[in-house]
Amino acid sequence: MQEHDVSPASDGRDGSFYPRPERKRVREFPEWLRKPWPARYDTRTQELLAGLKLNTVCQSAECPNLGECWNRGAATFMILGEHCTRACHFCAVKTGRGESLLALADEPERVAEATKQLGLRHVVVTSVARDDLPDEGAAHFARTIAALKAACGPELVVEVLTPDFHAREDCLRTVVEARPGVFNHNTETVERLHPPVRPQGDYRRSLRVLSLVKRLDPALPTKSGLMVGLGERFDEVRVTLDELREAGCEILTVGQYLRPSPEHLPVAEFVTPDTFRRYEEYALSIGFKAAACGPFVRSSYQAEQVLEGYGEKRKT
Ligand code: SF4
Repeated sequence: MQEHDVSPASDGRDGSFYPRPERKRVREFPEWLRKPWPARYDTRTQELLAGLKLNTVCQSAECPNLGECWNRGAATFMILGEHCTRACHFCAVKTGRGESLLALADEPERVAEATKQLGLRHVVVTSVARDDLPDEGAAHFARTIAALKAACGPELVVEVLTPDFHAREDCLRTVVEARPGVFNHNTETVERLHPPVRPQGDYRRSLRVLSLVKRLDPALPTKSGLMVGLGERFDEVRVTLDELREAGCEILTVGQYLRPSPEHLPVAEFVTPDTFRRYEEYALSIGFKAAACGPFVRSSYQAEQVLEGYGEKRKT
């Protein structure tokens, strides 16, 4: 396994957000994984989010698309604090004790205010895992969905990207009954790689989350995402896609894993654009209604356009 240090820069002010030019192994980076920072960067999104003291997964997970997304006013809110009670070996989000819910009491309204000011028609809300809370944060998700609809109107599509809630039906029901527009839960990787990648996660449990949501509301589109480049084989990804379909999942994202720091799992492989195209073709051939597969695809990347693809396919 060849090791690559592919951490993105934090602010892109050097003109090339990803990868950092001073990093030693940049020359090993394939051409298709070089993403220039936008030539004209609008700081309004950054200022708005900072003013409202909101966390985003764009920053916390050091997403390589930050310059592009924030420039067009799209961000993925990360609720329930900035410390995750789990410690996945691929993820840049800080691990630690969860913040007090009292301190987060007005977070739903702050998320709604930012969404309104950004003029979003489709918003993605994710969270850290909160295994410390009796409902694992489900009611806070529901409150956030309600605040968003109250502030922006019922036509706003709220896509939730949730932790697994230990596949507890009571928690999932709380979120589903708040009527999000899309329910997203990431499988992250193939079953064999769960122990090293996501030790507190469970592949079968994540599939159960998706099938339970489908059972609770068959009309609610379900979505899941995978990272590749962690050492998985092509046939293992295909099995995962088959099992996601069996769980009723309808929308898929697949993107390249990028190592946030030397403390995280190394990249095993830079997956070629051609392989991403084959994953996408396979996904559509087995009945996914929308699939976005590519080196820079993330679960929330261009979520609105991905959902439009789902809507078009559903009509046919
Ligand atoms: S892809 Fe998602 S997480 Fe990344 S910057 Fe865009 S909105 Fe944020």
